Amino acid sequence: MSNNLYTQRRFLLMTLDPVHIGTGGYRLGRVDLSIVREPGTNLPKIPGTSLAGAARSYAAMRYEKPQCAGQGGRDQPHCGQPTCPICYTFGSVRGTAGGSAGTISISDARLLFFPVHSLAGPVWVTSPSTLADFGIEGHQVSENKAGWNSALTRQNRLNLGWLMLEKDSDWSAPDDTRVPKEIKSRIVLVSDKLFSQIVNSNLEVRTSVSIDPRTGAAAEGALFTYEALPRATWLWLDVVEDDYRRDFPTREKLARWKQDLEQNSDEAEKLLKRWSLWKESDGEKQKEEARNKALKWIKDDLGHYNQAGSLPSPKQGWQKQTQNREEAKQEDPIQEGPIDVVRAGLQLAEYLGIGGMGTRGFGRIKVMADWEV
Ligand SMILES: [Zn+2]
Repeated sequence: MSNNLYTQRRFLLMTLDPVHIGTGGYRLGRVDLSIVREPGTNLPKIPGTSLAGAARSYAAMRYEKPQCAGQGGRDQPHCGQPTCPICYTFGSVRGTAGGSAGTISISDARLLFFPVHSLAGPVWVTSPSTLADFGIEGHQVSENKAGWNSALTRQNRLNLGWLMLEKDSDWSAPDDTRVPKEIKSRIVLVSDKLFSQIVNSNLEVRTSVSIDPRTGAAAEGALFTYEALPRATWLWLDVVEDDYRRDFPTREKLARWKQDLEQNSDEAEKLLKRWSLWKESDGEKQKEEARNKALKWIKDDLGHYNQAGSLPSPKQGWQKQTQNREEAKQEDPIQEGPIDVVRAGLQLAEYLGIGGMGTRGFGRIKVMADWEV
């Protein structure tokens, strides 16, 4: 329920590049740098921490407040201002204005549809448990067979080049998956066991060369291989917003707080107490100082709001600029809040990729849809 403090939103993602998020360790076997997998199923995933790191960095970039990107701490403290949407959303560590817990958490991104070449053209495989985890229950298929729609091929076999799938029954992907219909008719259902085998046999394995930092040339014997999720892999993740403070600094709220503080109203006093800038036992002089400090924060963050939105996807900018606010509210009940900050950050991963910021990874992903669950 959007009017509760607790909101959960599901994001559907598609990889635009081969995406590699490494485990940071070497694995004996096929490749030098393997990607992160779920224990149990052995299916690749993108850890939520990597996604949160990227979302934070890009949201901070979009809001033009680079000091609030990254992990914070002594060397590069976040601003920590209660007026900062980045720090409000992701929390702040040793902020200049204090530390606070964030209001969102981002789950791991898990596989939904995995692309494979077949003699009938590209297909996307999925499995009963994969669909059920996503919220689509009740799909079954026999252990070593597959289900697909006859629109894909009328034959009873599907040749993946290295594996011949036999048809179990006519099966159609459910309609509620928010996936383009061109892909929907190409989704093939296989058992969980077969799914894991197909995925793990079809990961991209690429070869790269390490560069010697001293010479700028290829280091000797420095060829290494790494695994990656192929392009056009569909994944999903959940963002949970636990906005316990209910005090997200929207542009409107900042403007109102500014007015309250300038007028030195009762509201101003409440605000200063809430932000631990002033208490009753302090004197008037301290109150004046606290008021000035709070006004400085607000002016700073209002300024950043005014700069934001100059980056890609102007239609889905920092604050949604698609329609007038009333219309937008009807279409999407969460107008401005922590989840919008996350979305604004994740959107940039379409251009800049995930990885960096302490994660061993790279590759662009695109947010295809998101909705409340
Ligand atoms: Zn901040």
